[in-house]
Amino acid sequence: MKNNVKIGSDITFAEIRESHDATLVAIGAWSSMSTRTKGEELEGVVGGIDFLQKVALGEETGMGKNVAVVGGGNTAMDACRTAVRLGAENVYVIYRRTRAEMPAEDIEIKEAMEEGVEFKFLTNPDEYLGENGKVTQVKLQVMELGEPDASGRRAPVPVEGKFEILDIDTVIAAIGQKVNPTGFEEIELNSRGIIAADEFTFRTNLADVFAVGDATNRGASIAIAAIGEAEKASKVIDSFLKGDVVPYIKPFVSEKTVTAEDLAHKEKIARAKMPHRSPEERKNDFKEVNLGFSEEGARNEAKRCLECGCHDYKDCSLIRHANRYEIHPERFEGVPHRGFMETRLLSIERNQHKCILCNLCVRTCEEVAKKGILGLVGRGFDTVIKPEFNSPDVIADCKNCKKCFEICPTGALKLL
Ligand SMILES: Cc1cc2nc3c(=O)[nH]c(=O)nc-3n(C[C@H](O)[C@H](O)[C@H](O)COP(=O)(O)OP(=O)(O)OC[C@H]3O[C@@H](n4cnc5c(N)ncnc54)[C@H](O)[C@@H]3O)c2cc1C
Ligand code: SF4
Ligand code: SF4
Repeated sequence: MKNNVKIGSDITFAEIRESHDATLVAIGAWSSMSTRTKGEELEGVVGGIDFLQKVALGEETGMGKNVAVVGGGNTAMDACRTAVRLGAENVYVIYRRTRAEMPAEDIEIKEAMEEGVEFKFLTNPDEYLGENGKVTQVKLQVMELGEPDASGRRAPVPVEGKFEILDIDTVIAAIGQKVNPTGFEEIELNSRGIIAADEFTFRTNLADVFAVGDATNRGASIAIAAIGEAEKASKVIDSFLKGDVVPYIKPFVSEKTVTAEDLAHKEKIARAKMPHRSPEERKNDFKEVNLGFSEEGARNEAKRCLECGCHDYKDCSLIRHANRYEIHPERFEGVPHRGFMETRLLSIERNQHKCILCNLCVRTCEEVAKKGILGLVGRGFDTVIKPEFNSPDVIADCKNCKKCFEICPTGALKLL
């Protein structure tokens, strides 16, 4: 880790490239987008991340007592809740759609409301008004929802001639972030000013430079999206360093929609409520709002997991080989096996639907466990492993060594 090194001023990007075989650029999106509103140049109008960055660095923000935050995302929520904690008396969130369309996490909206933030839904800043170069008011255009736009959400449309004036002394514009490419001029940007990286190789226009995260193609997103991309890119870069560029291909997995009926046999247990500090207490400081589960609470919460996916997802040899050898499963698609329910043998559960009849469990039971109680019965597609696990004779004979489970290459056998 080399901290406090800024590319473009402390060191050039060319120097980094010279001393490394490959470089991954993950510079995020650290410039606030403009609201393109008249009066934006007035003192007291600041960008969302600029404001939050100053607070995080302990710098003076110049924030007043009446604060308008423009935007409906997580940055807007962080900004309005930070303004409350810094002592603002009136904090407004100006959002041009309704709460239902807000991209911010619902919990953030709820907690901001509890802390006294006033949401001005269906309004959009039309102009920032000021005196002596300093913002004093915001003129809000009242909006209504029209037809759905490209994002699928109903587009906000101005209600002609309907405005509202809000007295404020600070505007925090948190309508989005864009890349600050200063220092990275060699890298090609797309038409939206975002680093253009190949979807499958994460490669930029420079052969040795890869890019991921908020700085690339789809623009600012959420943390896990950047983490996921970085994981995939690391594998591509590894292949590049070994002399070839193997693109990332989404691995094949069998997907199905799990409905409430599929899980009807499971007990319904409500999500545990995590203890958290009251709004009156938490709005005075920056300490954590959520207090965490006790060990018992965490264990109980984890036990709610429905295990609705395949338990063998990470280890299934069938999936691994199918992806490695680029099998196109649709070529082999057939009908599911008929009439097989999961059956249970002491501590092992069998799902015949996932059995590929490899015979390994049969051989293991015979040769390693020296029991020979499993066998293949039938021919062709209708072959199954028998005897049934719930047969009393098998249960009596099985020594529960779990060797059949260990050898099974798919999720057909599961340890309970
Ligand atoms: C206020 C705010 C709230 C958010 N809330 C959430 C949330 O609740 N949940 C969620 O999942 N996501 C949230 N996000 C989004 C999440 O933080 C990002 O999607 C994620 O951090 C992107 O990761 P990244 O690695 O692409 O970029 P970043 O995490 O932004 O990392 C980029 C790094 O590069 C450094 N850098 C930039 N330029 C240079 C340079 N020239 N030289 C050297 N270093 C440089 C930056 O200092 C930074 O450390 C939020 C974002 C913001 C701004
Ligand atoms: S647990 Fe052991 S003895 Fe029982 S069926 Fe499996 S391999 Fe055979
Ligand atoms: S080892 Fe698993 S996949 Fe192979 S036959 Fe036995 S149950 Fe089926």
